[in-house]
Amino acid sequence: MRVLLFGGTFDPPHNGHIHLLQQAIRAVAPDWVVVMPACLPPHKSPSTTAPDLRLAMCRCFEPIFPDLEVSSWEIEQGGASYTIDTAAMLENRFPGAQIFLTVGSDMLLSFTGWKDWQQLLARTILVVQSRREGDEEQLAAAAAGLEQKGGRVVFAGGTPLEVSSSEIRSGRGRKNIPPQAREIIRRYDLYRPHPTISIEGARRLAKRTLSDKRYTHTLNVKKLAVKLAKQYGADPDKAALAALLHDIAKERPKAELLQILQDNAIIAKGAAQRPVPVWHGICAALLAQHRWGVQDEEVLSAIANHTAGKPGMTRLDKIIYLADMCSAERSYPEVDWLRALLARDLDRAMAVSLGQNILWMRQQNKPIDPVSLAAYDELRRPYHLEAF
Ligand code: ATP
Repeated sequence: MRVLLFGGTFDPPHNGHIHLLQQAIRAVAPDWVVVMPACLPPHKSPSTTAPDLRLAMCRCFEPIFPDLEVSSWEIEQGGASYTIDTAAMLENRFPGAQIFLTVGSDMLLSFTGWKDWQQLLARTILVVQSRREGDEEQLAAAAAGLEQKGGRVVFAGGTPLEVSSSEIRSGRGRKNIPPQAREIIRRYDLYRPHPTISIEGARRLAKRTLSDKRYTHTLNVKKLAVKLAKQYGADPDKAALAALLHDIAKERPKAELLQILQDNAIIAKGAAQRPVPVWHGICAALLAQHRWGVQDEEVLSAIANHTAGKPGMTRLDKIIYLADMCSAERSYPEVDWLRALLARDLDRAMAVSLGQNILWMRQQNKPIDPVSLAAYDELRRPYHLEAF
């Protein structure tokens, strides 16, 4: 069996990568191809693009070959990604297979700087393509040097396509971005500076994104969240930002929300299996992070968990959840009672409100998020509230 491994940062993937992989497939005729975006590339400065989004952009390789897998393995390992570890993983997974490692010429020239390069050379066959015209001699010399050390190097041939990810990141060569990657770049507005959105910026965003009704709700949530933050010792600015963004994705179609969860497959693992009404908060947090530069974990968590809660809720998580449940325009039967409780005791109000919601969902035969059940089970205990 022949397994062809193609690793890189892919920030973003481009037609040079596609060209290299196509030529390598032609040269090697593999049974299986593994495209492997690195977590932290050891020889480059770390990428500022979220690993999930680099992984999602690598979908552009899928049409090249039927037996091709875009793997999240290196990203899921975390830390610096070393090809020797990946080769070992593939050897385990495909016992007896010959591993081919495809690289561009820059990587051939720097190969002896890689971790455990002699071992890697002994265990893989390098499949190389030039990245620029006129470097044949230099590459032949480098290949000969590796072959003297017992390595095997195959040249994939084909005319070099002089394009690089760094060039694209700096705004040039955009025509060389494959459509699947272009879509991710557009959706998350990648490769442009993303200063953290201000509170006023978030208000304007909510105003132009949401219907009038939801915008009014959002302003009411913000007002109450800021008041609760002041009362209960949380940061009012964080409360304002989280409140203004909490429903920012709520009016997006379900298919688009699912797409966002799939684009962020690692960080949002399992979210697509949770009930659909929970998706919009998770997606709002992902958009807040990627598009609007919100890095504050507390704010992101409060946005993401405002519908279902979660075990281990922070004070800000509870404030946003309850400001959403008790905002001025809400009129369900228990709301005044809950508002009165909220004015006295944030934690008890949180437990009671989540319990009421679970009960209501059960009565309506709606699917109940297991995350909510776990959160309630934790929150109810100090107050000896009934278990579900
Ligand atoms: P950057 O510009 O950020 O350094 P890059 O364009 O070199 O990125 P990587 O993701 O680092 O892209 O490259 C992954 C692999 O693809 C490496 O082996 C690299 O040599 C190879 N490669 C990249 N661009 C080309 C190209 N235009 N032609 C052939 N191989 C390429």
